[in-house]
Amino acid sequence: MNIAYISIGSNIGDRLHHLVEAVRALQSHERIEVTKLSSIYETAPVGYTDQADFLNLVVCVATSLDPYELLAACQEIEIGLGRIRDIRWGPRTADLDILLYNNDNIEAEKLIVPHPRMGERAFVLVPLLEIAPAIRHPVTGVPFNVADDDGVILWKKADGVGRLL
Ligand code: ATP
Ligand code: CA
Ligand code: CA
Repeated sequence: MNIAYISIGSNIGDRLHHLVEAVRALQSHERIEVTKLSSIYETAPVGYTDQADFLNLVVCVATSLDPYELLAACQEIEIGLGRIRDIRWGPRTADLDILLYNNDNIEAEKLIVPHPRMGERAFVLVPLLEIAPAIRHPVTGVPFNVADDDGVILWKKADGVGRLL
């Protein structure tokens, strides 16, 4: 079984509903089991800033899918939740990014793991470190740490996988 961490974000409409539906969809996949769920955090957008605040969380999954199959499953869930791809870093009903997959280092055209921008994103690192405090960068071996978590606000405390679902 493989262990992966996935970041999920939403900033359109009923953001909590979109996060819950995304986690449910992962959990209902026959080859994915959600094993850990972080609290939900609210953050102002980075990159394209003329949009609503995001809710974000990170889940840990156990899966028999390979990384490319997992990416395809994530993209299907995004589409199922009505994501329309237009503005890069723009508003979205749900964005599922694979942060880590075992200790793999993948540099393919469609998939880069560890996620190349995770190290500089407090909205990813804060929930990741909540559920995996000892996690290290698989290539460098350096522990992830959050330089500045200003602007990442605890929005809903984690109360277990079962409770959110
Ligand atoms: P960012 O990647 O900076 O968070 P984004 O999530 O807004 O930006 P998307 O438009 O969702 O970017 O994705 C663009 C492409 O990134 C996807 O089509 C996918 O092929 C590719 N991609 C590369 N590595 C990953 C990864 N680790 N997880 C998810 N998608 C990835
Ligand atoms: Ca993203
Ligand atoms: Ca994405």
